[in-house]
Amino acid sequence: MQRAVVLGGSFAGLMAARVLSDYAEDVVIVEPDCLDDASRTGAPHRRQLHALLAMGHTQLERWFPGITKEMTTQGALVGRGEAVQFYVDGHRRLPLEEVEMLGATRPFIERAVRLRTRGLPNVRIIAGRGQGLLIQGKCVRGVRYIPNGQQTETTTLTADFVVDAMGRSSRLSAWLEQEGWPVPPLDRMTIDLGYATASFRRGSELPGTVIAHSAPGPASDYQPTLCEPGALAAVEDSRWTVVLAGYAGHRPSRDPQEFRSRMRRCVQPLREVAEQCELESDVETFHFRESRRRRFLAASRLPGGLAAVGDAVASINPIYGQGLTLAALQASALAAYLRSGAAAHEPAWGYFQRADVFVNAGWNLSTTADLAQPHVIGPYPRGYALMRWVGDKITQASLQDAEINRAYMSVVHMQQHPRALARPRVLMRAARVLLAR
Ligand SMILES: Cc1cc2nc3c(=O)[nH]c(=O)nc-3n(C[C@H](O)[C@H](O)[C@H](O)COP(=O)(O)OP(=O)(O)OC[C@H]3O[C@@H](n4cnc5c(N)ncnc54)[C@H](O)[C@@H]3O)c2cc1C
Repeated sequence: MQRAVVLGGSFAGLMAARVLSDYAEDVVIVEPDCLDDASRTGAPHRRQLHALLAMGHTQLERWFPGITKEMTTQGALVGRGEAVQFYVDGHRRLPLEEVEMLGATRPFIERAVRLRTRGLPNVRIIAGRGQGLLIQGKCVRGVRYIPNGQQTETTTLTADFVVDAMGRSSRLSAWLEQEGWPVPPLDRMTIDLGYATASFRRGSELPGTVIAHSAPGPASDYQPTLCEPGALAAVEDSRWTVVLAGYAGHRPSRDPQEFRSRMRRCVQPLREVAEQCELESDVETFHFRESRRRRFLAASRLPGGLAAVGDAVASINPIYGQGLTLAALQASALAAYLRSGAAAHEPAWGYFQRADVFVNAGWNLSTTADLAQPHVIGPYPRGYALMRWVGDKITQASLQDAEINRAYMSVVHMQQHPRALARPRVLMRAARVLLAR
């Protein structure tokens, strides 16, 4: 390809640009926000704690070899085994040596990815806001955008391939409709989730801990009665980033005192930070109203030369920490599609089919789990009651048995498809563990 354009220069856009740099002479990222500004407005959720799942970390290293080393040299941490602690209903899972997680803030990770992407000789970033697609005949031929500093006058940028990485508020569907193309159906699930994140000074407390994550499970019927849901990460600049989450009437506020007292009702690592560490930031809140997924494969037609990545495809309940990993996996799916010899001007069905495997897995996993909340009213998938029952039993068994825990966590970390948990061997073992108890 001569030129590929990526609309949106956040995490998913940068990953896509990295992949496209292997296939296009010129890769242009169009992004309205000043990306180097820590308080940029384009993606306010970036200030919340972001955990990168083990598969996301693997993918990051795949596309940017040595990036972990670069980040740890600058203060990020890497944890595995005892350093990564997952709790369910206050009960700690067995540690896993093979699960490696990064302790760093989202702006820090994104900056490392941006520096590496921008350093590629054929990638450049233009400050501007995408305004529409240029479609000729059956395929996309470029984009229209307003350069920063101008009010309304649009500029045209021709391209052989365009990627939508404009996040969950992407206007791509509206643009397609304007041009007379069908709109990909949008799935939605209202979850009314509240997030609150704050930073604490990190000292000698909790030696060796990088990540601690606490979630309610079957013993509390997924309610915060036994333990507050929350997480902490040891991050750059000798800080702990702590997040608390709650649904509907239990959404956390910006009040620092409330934040600390909720931390005291959480698992031991969060309690210890609440007791011992100095708060170093305001409490930042974020209201995540609904999960959304655009089903591109269900559109009857798509113009050639167009793909979408990241939250522009699916923006899922952040509690499961899947967003960055899905974006990284989509970059790999894009690479596999382009490597397969597909012509840039054809509809990118092959890309969407590949990406659909894990986007569906992430969506199904999170929406099925969210239906355990009484205020979440659907839509219910077929066979939900059985899925929930089996899911609860496997979760219970995974808290007692090392092998099931390993299989379970490999699904949580997106290293395996959720169907790995439906294998007869896993089901039989779970039944044996629970019956023995
Ligand atoms: C509260 C919260 C906590 C989260 N925690 C985690 C976590 O722990 N782990 C995890 O993996 N994921 C987490 N996520 C999900 C993760 O943040 C997203 O999946 C991720 O930001 C997706 O990246 P993106 O590049 O697709 O979109 P975004 O990061 O939203 O970026 C979209 C970009 O598009 C730009 N843009 C918008 N309009 C235009 C336009 N017209 N033209 C050009 N550019 C445009 C914006 O300026 C922005 O830079 C969390 C999300 C939330 C809301």
